[in-house]
Amino acid sequence: MDHVLHLKCLICGQEYGPDEIEYICPHHGNDGIVDVVYDYELIGQRISRESLAQNPDSTIWRYKPLLPIQPETAVSPLTVGGTPLYRADRLADELGLRHVWVKDDGRLPTASFKDRASILAVAKAQEKGAVIITTASTGNAAAALSGICASVNQRNVIFVPEKAPAAKIAQLLVFGSTMMLVKGTYDDAFELCLQAAAEYGWYNRNTAYNPYMTEGKKTAVYEICEQLNWQAPDAIFVSVGDGCIIGGLHKGLKDLLALGWIDQMPRIYGVQAEGSAFMYEAWRDGEDVLTKAPVSGITLADSISAGLPRDRIKALTAVTHTNGAYICVSDEEILASIPALARATGVFAEPAGAAAHTGLLKAIELGYVSATDRIVILNTGSGLKDIVGAMKGVDLVGTKANYVEPDLADLRRVMAGL
Ligand SMILES: *Cc1c(COP(=O)(O)O)cnc(C)c1O
Ligand SMILES: [Zn+2]
Repeated sequence: MDHVLHLKCLICGQEYGPDEIEYICPHHGNDGIVDVVYDYELIGQRISRESLAQNPDSTIWRYKPLLPIQPETAVSPLTVGGTPLYRADRLADELGLRHVWVKDDGRLPTASFKDRASILAVAKAQEKGAVIITTASTGNAAAALSGICASVNQRNVIFVPEKAPAAKIAQLLVFGSTMMLVKGTYDDAFELCLQAAAEYGWYNRNTAYNPYMTEGKKTAVYEICEQLNWQAPDAIFVSVGDGCIIGGLHKGLKDLLALGWIDQMPRIYGVQAEGSAFMYEAWRDGEDVLTKAPVSGITLADSISAGLPRDRIKALTAVTHTNGAYICVSDEEILASIPALARATGVFAEPAGAAAHTGLLKAIELGYVSATDRIVILNTGSGLKDIVGAMKGVDLVGTKANYVEPDLADLRRVMAGL
């Protein structure tokens, strides 16, 4: 890891060697999130846009010189990365825009964006010889960790709120994780998991707390820029819960600027649900994210339910340093975006993924984007993760199935009524 210079505390600025601390700066309770700082000159000698063009590996490991692991570290064979970036011309037309793309991370092995971080966590755990790895999660980070652990026979213990969607709980049980259904919220699960990791000495994947999760998540934006021939988009829309994804996107873009591979910083728009709008409120009111009280975190978009976003420092600067904005949308609007996005693009998103689409609709209303902007919306999870949410979405837009007797005469009757 000679390309990692140090881990820098986002609160006090203290710098630590990569082996000096495991997760956080010890001076601020559980809030001392650190940033991984790289030697871009060294990295630039090891990888270039030209070498990438020759590299047939489409997984995130094509960017290994930009990731905080040893070159020889064993990694999961699951193919994480290389998700499609679809041009969405019909969606653009509907919205009076010219250039819209959808990056579909619902296509990753466990069907959410979280695979990008979890695969790095498992690689780090293997580097450190950890016997057990643990995480708290609203569902997807856990499912991702669980599946990737299964691929390399890594033991793991998972903490999720008992009300997580059935599909996500099913994934955990199928992959054989040791599973703790916490009788409380995600925030409760997070606290319990931190205590458990300290008590039992487990390797901790927890979002933000583990500084390497940002580093896995940044690979999405490397892919987006590479897929756009290194012409960075003007705006990126992403939903925000803990704020690790949005922070990761910002980090990836800063890397690419530092390497001189792109020449502009896109505006980053973070989309939050009304009942879980900590970041939106802090951004709108100029509040200090370290002292602001938690919000309720109640939303049907379970993946972005976070009363106290763990990566709130990175999440705020991702927006303020890129001239973007936070956008707040209702659960109803999010649910209606599920069929709207699916019908315009063929991409079926879970509520938190569809929220990026809702955010774009709001941004147009608010005048945040212009017709010629090159815009990427990020789908972070597959619609099959939450069928109950999807059915509420089709109900909202008034779509109904037709019931028909198994004979042609009855079919004619039904067809005539359409
Ligand atoms: C985790 C997740 C998010 C939000 O990511 P954060 O890092 O918590 O902000 C959005 N969408 C989906 C599908 C997720 O699983
Ligand atoms: Zn510090």
